[in-house]
Amino acid sequence: MPQIFLLMSTFQDLNLSSQLLTAIDELGFDTPTPIQQEAYPAVMSGKDLVGIAQTGTGKTLAYLIPIIQGLKYSKQTNPRIAILVPTRELVLQVVENIKSLTTYINLRPVGVYGGTNINAQAQLVQQGCDIIVGTPGRMYDLVVTRALSLKSIQKLVIDEVDVMLDLGFRFQLTNIFDHLPERRHNVMFSATMTEDVDELIDDFFYEPKRIAIALSGTPLDNISQQCYKVENFYTKANLLAHLLRDKAEFGKVLIFVPNKKSADRLYNVLHEDFASQLGIIHSNKTQNYRIRSIEDFDSGASRMLISTDVMARGLDLDKVSHVINFDVPKFAENYMHRIGRTGRAEHEGKSILLYTEAEQEWKDAIETLMDYKIPEMEFPEEVEISKQLTPDERPEEGDTKNPHRNRKAKIRVSGPSTHEKSAKNSKTNQGGSYHRELAKKYKKKKTRGDKNANRGKKRLR
Ligand code: ADP
Ligand code: MG
Repeated sequence: MPQIFLLMSTFQDLNLSSQLLTAIDELGFDTPTPIQQEAYPAVMSGKDLVGIAQTGTGKTLAYLIPIIQGLKYSKQTNPRIAILVPTRELVLQVVENIKSLTTYINLRPVGVYGGTNINAQAQLVQQGCDIIVGTPGRMYDLVVTRALSLKSIQKLVIDEVDVMLDLGFRFQLTNIFDHLPERRHNVMFSATMTEDVDELIDDFFYEPKRIAIALSGTPLDNISQQCYKVENFYTKANLLAHLLRDKAEFGKVLIFVPNKKSADRLYNVLHEDFASQLGIIHSNKTQNYRIRSIEDFDSGASRMLISTDVMARGLDLDKVSHVINFDVPKFAENYMHRIGRTGRAEHEGKSILLYTEAEQEWKDAIETLMDYKIPEMEFPEEVEISKQLTPDERPEEGDTKNPHRNRKAKIRVSGPSTHEKSAKNSKTNQGGSYHRELAKKYKKKKTRGDKNANRGKKRLR
């Protein structure tokens, strides 16, 4: 997107230390992205900040650069900056980013996340750190076991807050807030503005400055899009296998599926043909497995990665040649998130959408949001049309295909979900009002997408 950078100044124009400038230069960056440009003075000023910008717009450095610039050398044990992110993968990625920005600066980042030995992490924390990056659950566990003190925290960053709330981390966040100094600087970044995000801001932020960059529905100029109308799941799998045989064209392919079940089902089909060229990540895979899958994909050791939406969101993968939308996302905006995984920075990217008759209406919604009709490709004759149906596709037993609805329905009817459990363990009163809150929350119809984008959509009709 070079044209939008035209009016922007360079990193040289920000008042950065020469050590930080050199590190940014070595990363190969010379121009701040719009969100970086706007967030810098806001984060420096100490005013609460909410930054909304599409995936791939450089939000991580938008908060890391001013934070690192503003931190003085210290030997103290307790961290002064806390950064909360929704997944372990993102913890690793943010810590990596901090490390590369502080090649010439003495700063101690520590990343903490669940699924690994807590004692090892407690020891790391107790050796002292300046910036603690973590998932809310693990950070809270370290606080209650007194391995970590948050009393020196000056700035709190919540990144990917929309995903965080979607994963049900609201109560973990609130628990952590209870342990933070009341006087602190709050910064939050999100790709989308949802009702839940808005509520969190109202409850915990003080007159925040709001920066919103691109609309969620803005078509991404450097991504070429195509779609195929396909009979059903297994025919989609046949078509995909057919396309993927062209190794030269399909060099690095990220395949989105709506949920774990579809991910496993597709993996099993494609595995016959592609075996070691194929990776998979979803929330049921162990952390080590996920990390390995991502690393293999990023390094090019595997050519394709199957992922669910939440797992892939916020991940910065290098030079993905194709994004395959194996299903049509029910929230048009998720399509934008998905295709934003390709065409990163200034590389050309390609996106292919496979849709069935039943998914047509969701495709229409996406096209309305983008104000763009996705070019339709002819279904290749040589691809076999399968008569086999998945349980979802059989009319009687089909469960809802919307992963969000599914998950929420489950939370309502079955035993306590993770965050209900942790909420019960917390000190706050979770009597009747808590359950009312929960009921309200899960009955409520969510506004998906950037408010501005929705406004734009209404105008289009
Ligand atoms: P977001 O969190 O908004 O999805 P990221 O922070 O993951 O985006 O950054 C997306 C990609 O853009 C990363 O590969 C990052 O290294 C790159 N990037 C960040 N800032 C710049 C910049 N100023 N110029 C060029 N590329 C950048
Ligand atoms: Mg991000």
